[in-house]
Amino acid sequence: MSSAAHQRQPHAVLIPQPAQGHVTPMLHLAKALHARGFRITFVNSEYNRRRLLRSRGPGSLDGADGFRFEAVPDGLPPPSDDHGDDVTQDIAALCLSTTKHSAAPFRELLVRLNNGMPGAPPVSCVIADGVMSFAQRVAGEMGIPALVFWTTSACGFMGYLHFAELVRRGYVPLKDESDLTNGYLDTVIDWIPGMEGIRLKDIPSFIRTTDPDDVMLNFDGGEAQNARGARGLILNTYDELEQDVVDALRRTFPRLYTVGPLPAFAKAAAGGAELDAIGGNLWEEDASCLRWLDAQKQPGSVVYVNFGSITVVTTAQLTEFAWGLASCGRPFLWVVRPDLVAGEKAVLPEEFVRDTKDRGVLASWCPQERVLSHPSVGLFLTHCGWNSTLESVCAGVPMVCWPFFAEQPTNCRYACAKWGIGMEIGGDVNREEVARLVREAMDGEKGEAMRASATAWKESARAATEGGGSSSENMDRLVKFLRAGCD
Ligand code: UDP
Repeated sequence: MSSAAHQRQPHAVLIPQPAQGHVTPMLHLAKALHARGFRITFVNSEYNRRRLLRSRGPGSLDGADGFRFEAVPDGLPPPSDDHGDDVTQDIAALCLSTTKHSAAPFRELLVRLNNGMPGAPPVSCVIADGVMSFAQRVAGEMGIPALVFWTTSACGFMGYLHFAELVRRGYVPLKDESDLTNGYLDTVIDWIPGMEGIRLKDIPSFIRTTDPDDVMLNFDGGEAQNARGARGLILNTYDELEQDVVDALRRTFPRLYTVGPLPAFAKAAAGGAELDAIGGNLWEEDASCLRWLDAQKQPGSVVYVNFGSITVVTTAQLTEFAWGLASCGRPFLWVVRPDLVAGEKAVLPEEFVRDTKDRGVLASWCPQERVLSHPSVGLFLTHCGWNSTLESVCAGVPMVCWPFFAEQPTNCRYACAKWGIGMEIGGDVNREEVARLVREAMDGEKGEAMRASATAWKESARAATEGGGSSSENMDRLVKFLRAGCD
């Protein structure tokens, strides 16, 4: 590229919250933009940069032509538990700390990118994670247009957007702890646009507090409001999947770009080995489970169990899942993160490991998208993180849902009640229910219906990202808007 062409090339700086469920979709978006001619600067936290170098090997952050990585500090001290420098950081602490400590280094980075990089075009836009609005603010102060990317579902985002109104109308905070169990959370909220019939228990879990000053209630509620000040809002969903909520959001956010499922765009963008090699998994992937899946003879026979990157369980809950899987009688692949049990090493009962060794395999982190699209996998036992939910939709795999926190209960509600692809493990987990739901989902009538719905959604997700599809058109609109300087 000539130097004049360099100067005209659009340059997007993308900054995700430094957590797996944010880094992955932001990286997908970055790859999609790179494939459409953008120069990319992708900003990790220094902590995650170390983890990425460890999990993916030296050189893994060298990037590709026109795709560069940078890092800013998150302001948190190194974790002090047994897992060392390889754990999900405390999310509430991370939210507060990045807001306070990452803004100044981010500003310095933008200044450096604009002034000190020979041959590189100036920054033309910032795409800030919805919960990193300091980056939106810094960009605004420097006269650089900023969009926000909320990596949640549209329904999850709509929930966060109504935290303030729930407080104003007196639903939240809870009067006392008994509201968690006395049926209060079954209250139907019929005034959130596009989400008629939603119950309090389906709203992102940070409303389940008695403390008006609760960090996450205020932080996520506030960040959702900050999205109103951005030049545009990007969501990793597609219109047909969340039509009512998306329609309602468009009334508030005329520049709403629903460009999901992003993995499809990232795959289409890949091609060059250099770009293919850019991955965002913070843990080292154990690909041997793919060989184990290859060896399974019956298609759709395996239960895949994974609770994502943040969920922590108690030893008692881990044990209930273990015995539920043991007695459901199906082959399973279970990803048990080393830091899955809060404050301890995750240890499964010895008898469980012995009794199930012929039909179960354990891993500490896997290439999830490849696992879900493997023909042997028939069911996903999931915490309903948005990426996991969407990846399951793309793969056409039904789910048994055990939401943990944040907007996972919202995603679970939509998966079970609207999309017909999920069954929920209610309340605290017990082994009988795990076994019963897995059997029902694999062999029962309900399972049959869920598989049919999952196949239909898979097809609609594919159509959305192909030429003429809603997300494909929205991606084109987004690119045009960014190229035109976001005016
Ligand atoms: N993931 C993975 N391997 C694993 C566990 C998770 O690749 O063993 C990926 C998964 O595909 C998803 C992300 O990590 O893209 C987790 O994001 P999600 O929103 O589902 O949940 P969170 O981790 O934020 O709770």
